Amino acid sequence: MSAIAEYRAWAEIDLEALANNLRWIRHGVGAGCGVITVVKADAYGHGLRQIAGCLMQNGTDVLGVANLAEASNVRAAGEGWPVLMLGACQSEREFKTLCQANVAATVSSREEILELARVAGRFRQRALVHLKIDTGMSRLGVAPGGALKLATLIAEQPFLSFDGVYTHLSSSEEDALFTGDQLKRFSSCLELFKSAGLVIPKIHALNSGGIAYETTRVGNHVRPGLLVYGITPPGKRTETADWLTRLRPVLALKSRISHIKTISCGSAVSYGQSAVCSRSTRLATVCIGYGDGILRSASRRMEVLIAGQRCPVVGVITMDQMMVDVSHLPMLQRGDEVVVIGAQGEDELLAGDLASAAGSIVWEILTSITQRVPRIYRGISVG
Ligand SMILES: *Cc1c(COP(=O)(O)O)cnc(C)c1O
Repeated sequence: MSAIAEYRAWAEIDLEALANNLRWIRHGVGAGCGVITVVKADAYGHGLRQIAGCLMQNGTDVLGVANLAEASNVRAAGEGWPVLMLGACQSEREFKTLCQANVAATVSSREEILELARVAGRFRQRALVHLKIDTGMSRLGVAPGGALKLATLIAEQPFLSFDGVYTHLSSSEEDALFTGDQLKRFSSCLELFKSAGLVIPKIHALNSGGIAYETTRVGNHVRPGLLVYGITPPGKRTETADWLTRLRPVLALKSRISHIKTISCGSAVSYGQSAVCSRSTRLATVCIGYGDGILRSASRRMEVLIAGQRCPVVGVITMDQMMVDVSHLPMLQRGDEVVVIGAQGEDELLAGDLASAAGSIVWEILTSITQRVPRIYRGISVG
């Protein structure tokens, strides 16, 4: 606690909750289904190395990253950990680095396959490849009509190891019909591959929304990001499985009061006099702002917890500080803890609440928390 007493704003990361969430996901998808846990964007703002280490200790099968820098960071943390890069390689040099680090590459085109095969051949080292199929996201991936040709091409390359095939869902928490169509297109490709005698160890399609809302499992691996951090993607579809309620948010975001005063009726608050008090107001200044990742668009709509009570933010959020109405809490003092995301007393603020206030999504809220916010790890010891 003594170290935390010095922090202006900090994130508490509960590794026990993380391990617990991974166990529930494993339970939910059933034995025989592998888990590729997504740790891109600094593990959704939770800290790549610590999260990757904890997930490996607790039985994830593969770690999914977005780019080469993230892949290298995971590789530096754990020599033998299986890693899949979900993004595309930009050049032969990137393929070379990936190949040497034994990280699985994602390919969507003939050029990429031949480039990687060339690089791997030069190093006499088999490169791991996942073929991506575009079933409706229009991001990476080959169109279903061209998938068999590319799959065959991969299988023919002596220095490529055909490790996986996958697709990505665009609306898994919102639209059951569209998701169903995407999965059908993917399954049709898998049928073709099977008829052609192709053997591919890892087949995966479901992101967090897919795991949460789809009742049939397509493939033999799943690819959760948000779920492992304890958040079920909110959307139009409603929850199906009971085990989802067992997930716990891993991250809490906290700060403290740096100043308290009572301002008179008619006083202006924050930049641009963005609020004017209609009554005498007890105002607490809190040491967290958009420079820490609290999106400014949440100004005037978001609440924080102090002494277990909800307190509204007044005026616009500034870079390093924001002001909060604490008129209903006369006993507060400088130094008191403020919860932006997390539980306090009987109440809890979710990342989703902040997302709604900011007109954003939970993924953006988590990845917006900046580097100047120290991450404090709790729960289980990390190596
Ligand atoms: C980010 C990402 C995921 C994880 O998505 P969640 O919705 O957080 O589960 C899975 N697959 C791919 C390709 C991704 O880019």
